[in-house]
Parts: sequence; structure tokens; C-alpha cells
Amino acid sequence: MLKDIIYDEFQHTVSEILLCNRSILDLLAKSQETNARMNRAIIKSVTGCGCIRINAAKKKIPPETSLEGLKKLLESHLEGELCDNCREIVELEMGRNLFYLAALCNLLDLNMYDVLIKEQKKLKALGLYNLA
Ligand SMILES: [Zn+2]
Repeated sequence: MLKDIIYDEFQHTVSEILLCNRSILDLLAKSQETNARMNRAIIKSVTGCGCIRINAAKKKIPPETSLEGLKKLLESHLEGELCDNCREIVELEMGRNLFYLAALCNLLDLNMYDVLIKEQKKLKALGLYNLA
């Protein structure tokens, strides 16, 4: 399948070009840092650019609501869409985050595609009961 090749190539490329931060301690720190930068980029889309807005309040959920009904009641609290500039920045930060995830996989001898497939199987098996 083409997608597993893309994951494997990405993971291999990361292993080839990662010179600094090869220690597990550095990788854990960089992974967390890139995750924070990704979250900041999303927040800046709200507070700096304004192309997306957050509109959140406590939801009143009737006690007899089914799991399927919950899906319709709960929402993202997001309004609007990322503009081209914010989309580019968020994608850049997500890419950096994926880079360090791949580096962690390499260091721990894990295959990113296998991790993805295992998670996909778990999601399909649990369905709405996953509670993610
Ligand atoms: Zn924007």
C-alpha cells in the first residue's frame, strides 16, 4: 500500500537527517516543544489573526441522551476557517511535531505506520465506546 511506504520513507528520512537531539531526553523535550508551538499557532489564529474564533459554553446534555446523540450535541466550539497564512503556519508546526514523533519511533524501534494501524483497529473495534 502506498501510504505505508510514505510513512516508512518519512521515518527513514528523519533518521537520516537528525543529527542533533538524538538523546531520548532531547527528543522528549523537542516533541513537547513542537506540540506547544503547534498549539500556539492555533491560538494565534484566534487571537492574532482572527480567522477562527472559539465560542464555548457549558453544554446542557439531557440525561437520556444516547452516545450517538452526544455526537450531535457536542461540537468543536470553533467558528470560521483557517486563512491561507494560518493554515501554512499550523501545517508547518504539525510537520515539525510529526518529525519528532518519527524520531521517537526511530529511537524506540517502532514503526509509525504500525502504530497508526494499531490505533485504527482499536478505534474501529471500540467505535463510539472509545470515548476519545
Ligand atoms: Zn488566519
